[in-house]
Amino acid sequence: MSYDDNNIFAKILRGEIPCKKIYEDDFVLSFHDINPQKAIHALVIPKGKYVDLDDFIQNASPEEMTGLLKGINIVSKKLGISTENGNGYRALTNIGKDGGQEVPHLHFHLFGGEKIGKMVE
Ligand code: 5GP
Repeated sequence: MSYDDNNIFAKILRGEIPCKKIYEDDFVLSFHDINPQKAIHALVIPKGKYVDLDDFIQNASPEEMTGLLKGINIVSKKLGISTENGNGYRALTNIGKDGGQEVPHLHFHLFGGEKIGKMVE
């Protein structure tokens, strides 16, 4: 699947659509999900144009990979849900149709602030 420049997260990255920003650096942008599924529901997205995790693993640079993983850790601490300063959280990424991915720009969901519960339905 080729990258769609008009997906909603591409528009957020370009500043065409607002978001409730949590954190930003050279590699990632993080913001609150518009339709939170848990007490805390954040999204962490790479700044590069990657459709999903498979695309990212195959095509991202080592710096981008490190940047994304570090970004998740930084955001979890900022939100007070890391195991260092909180009670933990769940990081999840959906891939493709069966994975339930709706927005075709790689994103990690961070769920926290309460017990997250069952892993899958
Ligand atoms: P997916 O199903 O692709 O893994 O998750 C997409 C997520 O993006 C959903 O949780 C949805 O609520 C969120 N989302 C969709 N559009 C917007 C938007 O315009 N702004 C924000 N902040 N989140 C969005």
